[in-house]
Amino acid sequence: MDADVEKYLPQLRGALLARAGRLREALRRAPGGRDRRASRAPAVAAPPGAGDATATRADDDAALAELWECEAALRRLETGCYGTCCDCRGDVGLIELLLRPQAQRCEACENRHGPSA
Ligand SMILES: [Zn+2]
Repeated sequence: MDADVEKYLPQLRGALLARAGRLREALRRAPGGRDRRASRAPAVAAPPGAGDATATRADDDAALAELWECEAALRRLETGCYGTCCDCRGDVGLIELLLRPQAQRCEACENRHGPSA
């Protein structure tokens, strides 16, 4: 892991937790409540119209995918492999991680794979 990244780990962890929390909340409110893993949240039914009714299925899928990325990044933090590119085992740059704390590839590998991979 990049030494600079190590200094920012508390901020990056906080950003990941906050992002994951917001995504979980958004998915819980989404029509259909597709996040089955949020079952620990209190099962209080939102009043009609309280959820974001404009959210589309695609938004929902994107949010779920991002939530998984955030959770995977948090697991990497726990296991000590955070900030290591999953392809080339090189360091993921600090700038990259500050922009996207859930990034799992360095910039070069990310460009090879495209943003969705
Ligand atoms: Zn790489």
